[in-house]
Amino acid sequence: MTVRISLLLLLGTLLWIPSEAQVIDYARYVVNTLASDSLFGRGYVEDGDKKAAEFIEQEFRRFEVQPLNQSYTQSFEIPVNTFPDSITVKIDHQALTAGKDFHVLPGSPSISGTYEILFIPRDKIFDLNLLRSKIDQSDGKVIVLDDYPDSLMDNTQRNLWVQIQQLLTKHPSIKAAATILLTNEKLTWYGSQIEDANPSLRMLKDVFNPSAKTIELNIKNEFINAYPTQNVYGFIEGDIDSTILFMAHYDHFGMMGQAIFPGANDNASGVAMLLSLAQYYSENKPPYNMVFVAFGAEELGLIGAKHFADNPPFELSKTKFMLNFDISGTGDEGIRVVNGSVYRNQFDQMVALNEEHDLLPQVRIRGSACNSDHCIFDRMGIPGFYIYTLGGIPAYHDVYDRPETLPLTEFEDYFKLLRLFVDEL
Ligand SMILES: [Zn+2]
Repeated sequence: MTVRISLLLLLGTLLWIPSEAQVIDYARYVVNTLASDSLFGRGYVEDGDKKAAEFIEQEFRRFEVQPLNQSYTQSFEIPVNTFPDSITVKIDHQALTAGKDFHVLPGSPSISGTYEILFIPRDKIFDLNLLRSKIDQSDGKVIVLDDYPDSLMDNTQRNLWVQIQQLLTKHPSIKAAATILLTNEKLTWYGSQIEDANPSLRMLKDVFNPSAKTIELNIKNEFINAYPTQNVYGFIEGDIDSTILFMAHYDHFGMMGQAIFPGANDNASGVAMLLSLAQYYSENKPPYNMVFVAFGAEELGLIGAKHFADNPPFELSKTKFMLNFDISGTGDEGIRVVNGSVYRNQFDQMVALNEEHDLLPQVRIRGSACNSDHCIFDRMGIPGFYIYTLGGIPAYHDVYDRPETLPLTEFEDYFKLLRLFVDEL
């Protein structure tokens, strides 16, 4: 009996450290789940955001991570422009592929019909008199504006270029049925909280034939004034009345018609890190309180984080340090630490731990940057880092950011480094 009790006591004090395979398997499971087609890109069609939030809450419950103020979720509403129905674009009867050949601009309104094309070639773009006369003749036609390489523009032209694009896509005086902006660069999508005046698309220059005569467009948007979405969080109580705040946004862009934006690296991977740490600390009780937040609506402008900061479910002033994970799925070239030069001692500590344990290829420093959810808390004077992985796949804010191509190259070493770093805080 005595032997058994002491054995149990001994076992109770042992750390649970997941093996390398367990860490990777779990991260893969989270990324595959969150970035699967059945979560519809974790946006605002087909309840993608809600399905993602339910999965994260289920994981918190499974690890017996506690709710905050009796709840795992915090609701808020957002205005958002969505494209729930299938989209058709045909040039001279040739169908193009949504997401790969073109993006509908995120604020675009609906359009349906077949239109004559009015092509404006590159060498005519900065001939403003000609451009004006073309725009004046565009009534009921689709303007296709050729691309203009950034390297060929001076600053005046660069400003003008932005203004021309803004005018065509957003100004209500434009009589064209729609505008298509050609590009030689990769297509990158974003979200919109407003509905623009004019239907607009961005299209790869390669798929457009300048001598094409007609274009068929069938795009239907649905603008939602107050879409209810949510943050999801969990809590592990420590002995010290001071909190380490971990965060990762779980939202992505959802769908543009039939095209899904899975957001594997951005940011199913960061949520995988958040949940891996929640699981680890649920097994290994930390000295400090720990709060784990999966934010919604980051891609629409850090809205979930703002809502959380305005309605905090714990005393934010007691935050000892925050760690934001947004893009955690590569690491071939190491990580970069936003706020590294602001909290230099902690940064140096992380570099030293990385070298001592021979983990990531490099830990690179960066100053402050308002490029993810940490920014909201940064402005409140809460210390902490935003860390992202470097190298690997270039997919970002597009349909190619998929779970099957996400390498998770350094995920296990990154996870180990974070545990060591948190131990030293
Ligand atoms: Zn992100």
